[in-house]
Amino acid sequence: MKYPWLTGLHTQLSQQYQTNQLHHALLINAAVGVGKRQFAMDFAAGLLCDKKTGQACGQCKSCLLLETQAHPDFFIAEDPAAKSIGVDLIRQVVSRAQQKSQQGGALVFYIPDCDKMTEASANALLKTLEEPGQDKYLILTTASINRLLPTILSRCQQYVLRPPQLSELTSWLAEQHVDLARFETIYQQMNGSPLIALDYAKSDYLDKQKAFLADFKQLITGQISAFQFSQVFDEKAYNQQLDWLNQAISKWLAAKLQSNSSDPKQAVKRLLISDLNLQLAHARAQMLQSGMNKKTIFQRLCFNLVDGLKY
Ligand SMILES: [Zn+2]
Repeated sequence: MKYPWLTGLHTQLSQQYQTNQLHHALLINAAVGVGKRQFAMDFAAGLLCDKKTGQACGQCKSCLLLETQAHPDFFIAEDPAAKSIGVDLIRQVVSRAQQKSQQGGALVFYIPDCDKMTEASANALLKTLEEPGQDKYLILTTASINRLLPTILSRCQQYVLRPPQLSELTSWLAEQHVDLARFETIYQQMNGSPLIALDYAKSDYLDKQKAFLADFKQLITGQISAFQFSQVFDEKAYNQQLDWLNQAISKWLAAKLQSNSSDPKQAVKRLLISDLNLQLAHARAQMLQSGMNKKTIFQRLCFNLVDGLKY
């Protein structure tokens, strides 16, 4: 197994498969960077394997076909260029599910980021999701389970891939050629997304964060203006920068609150924290919309922050 923290759920589901208790529609819920895709691909391989143990042997015809991405009984419903999973793609799933498997084994469908299904797509899938037929399986994954329609949720067996503890990552990390201290620091900030933390630990993420926070300190102590601060904006890393800003504001204001516990202005400051965090969320949502100038949004946010932080 490429990611050892996925083994537990895989073993659990393989056992259900061996005892004919596996649900035909599996919904895997996990945060970004935990390894949902790897899990779905590994589990699909186990279902397709000729040995029928629920674990891929890596040697049979099915396993080899899957390795060369030429397995006729495995279908991934995704269009990387599209923002949503359109109804045409789902109709292909429905149509294929009505046919027999070509290799004589299971038929497996994988719908990554299934929360991107449009309402029409979801409706088109319902009947297949409920009753795909003998030896046919659907694996759906999502990092945003709240966006799924109740009609989808009720037709799936749900599982959560929980983020691993640092202690569970020891053997995996030993093979990653990464500075452990850097990884640990980032992993704790990432709320348990090992794959993202690994990417960041291999880059200059921590150095950039340190420089960004030093500039932020200059901003809130009045050494630089909001306009000057806004020049640090990096369009490619805007999500990271907004995360850092969020953490820095919360930390800074939380410290202010603690040091003035008898201050009658406490309630106002608490409101201020939530207001600034709301503004950040709003700016992030705006930046996600195409056509909006991200730097302008960031500049406006910086001016509002300075105004808000005066109190
Ligand atoms: Zn096999």
